[in-house]
Amino acid sequence: MVDFSKFLKHLWREKFPFKFVYSDSYWMVDLEEHVFPIKKYRLIYERLLRSGAKKEKFISPSMPDDKALLFVHSQRYIKKIKAGKLSSSELQALEIPYSAEGIEFAFLNVGGTIEAAELAQKEGLCIHIGGGFHHAFYDHGEGFCVLNDTAVALEHLKQKGDIQKAMVVDCDVHQGNGTASVLSGKEHAFTFSIHQMDLYPAIKPESSLDVGLWSGDGDEKYLELLNSNIPRIYHEYKPDLIFYLAGADPFEKDQLGGLKITMLGLKERDNIVLKNARKLRIPVVVVLAGGYAYDIDDTVTIHMNTIKVAQKVQRKYSPKKIYKQAEDQ
Ligand SMILES: [Zn+2]
Repeated sequence: MVDFSKFLKHLWREKFPFKFVYSDSYWMVDLEEHVFPIKKYRLIYERLLRSGAKKEKFISPSMPDDKALLFVHSQRYIKKIKAGKLSSSELQALEIPYSAEGIEFAFLNVGGTIEAAELAQKEGLCIHIGGGFHHAFYDHGEGFCVLNDTAVALEHLKQKGDIQKAMVVDCDVHQGNGTASVLSGKEHAFTFSIHQMDLYPAIKPESSLDVGLWSGDGDEKYLELLNSNIPRIYHEYKPDLIFYLAGADPFEKDQLGGLKITMLGLKERDNIVLKNARKLRIPVVVVLAGGYAYDIDDTVTIHMNTIKVAQKVQRKYSPKKIYKQAEDQ
C-alpha cells in the first residue's frame, strides 16, 4: 500500500530542488533614502516561505577569509574598508553611505556567493539571495558595490582546485566593469556581459564578450542576442561552473535602466541562461545583482520569476533525474 503521507512529504521536500543562501542581516542596513532597495532580500525570503520553501533550505553565509578576498582585492583596500578609512572621493564613487552594517553586508555577500558556488557544484544549482556586486574593482568600489563577490568566489574555487574554469553570465543592465577588470586576461575565467551602452559605467573595460544594447531596445532584440550567444559560448568555453547575475534592472519600469524588457522577456532570458547550462550539466550559481523598479514588488517578482524558472529547469535536469535517465537507457 502506498504511504500517502510519505508521498506528500516527498513532494513538499522537492518544492525547490536546490538551496538558498540568505542572511537576515542583508536587509538590516540603513541606506537612508536610497534607490537601492535593500529590503528586497527580506521580501524575497518571505515570498519563498509563502511559496512553500522550508526554512532548512536557507543556508546562512559566513564571513570570508581574507585569503580569498586577496585573490581579487588589494590588501590596502581591504584594510581601508575595515578601518572605515575610505576617502571622500572613494565614498562618492560607492554612492552608498558608509556604515558598519553596510561593510558587514559587503563581506557577508562574498561569503554567501562562495557558499552558493560550493553548493551549486554539489547539487547542480544554488540561489544566493544576494550577491552580484559587479562594479567592485581591485582597489576600489563603485556604484553600490564594495567587494566583488562573484570574482572572489570564482578565484577561491579555482585556487582550491574545485574548478578548472568558470564563466560569468552578467545580465544586469549595467556593464560588469569591475568583474571584467579583475578577471581580465585570466584563461580560467570567461566574462560575458549583456548591457545597455548609454548608461553607467561610462568606461566599460572589455569582458571576454560584451553585447551592447541601446536605450529603448526591447525583448525581441535582447532575446535574439542571448539566443545567438549563450548556447554558443557554453559549447565553446565549456565552463565547470556558471555564475549567473540575474539583474532585475533591464526591466521596462526600472528607475535606472532604459531597456524596455518586459517581465515575460526577463523570464525567457532566465530560461535561455539556465536551461542551456543545465542541459549541458553545467552547475549554476544564481546571484541577484541590481533591480530598481519604481515598485519594489516588481523587483521582487522578477527575482522570484528567476527562482521559478530555476525550479522548472532544475526539476528537468536535476542530477538525480539525469542519473535515472542514464539508468533507463
Ligand atoms: Zn545594475
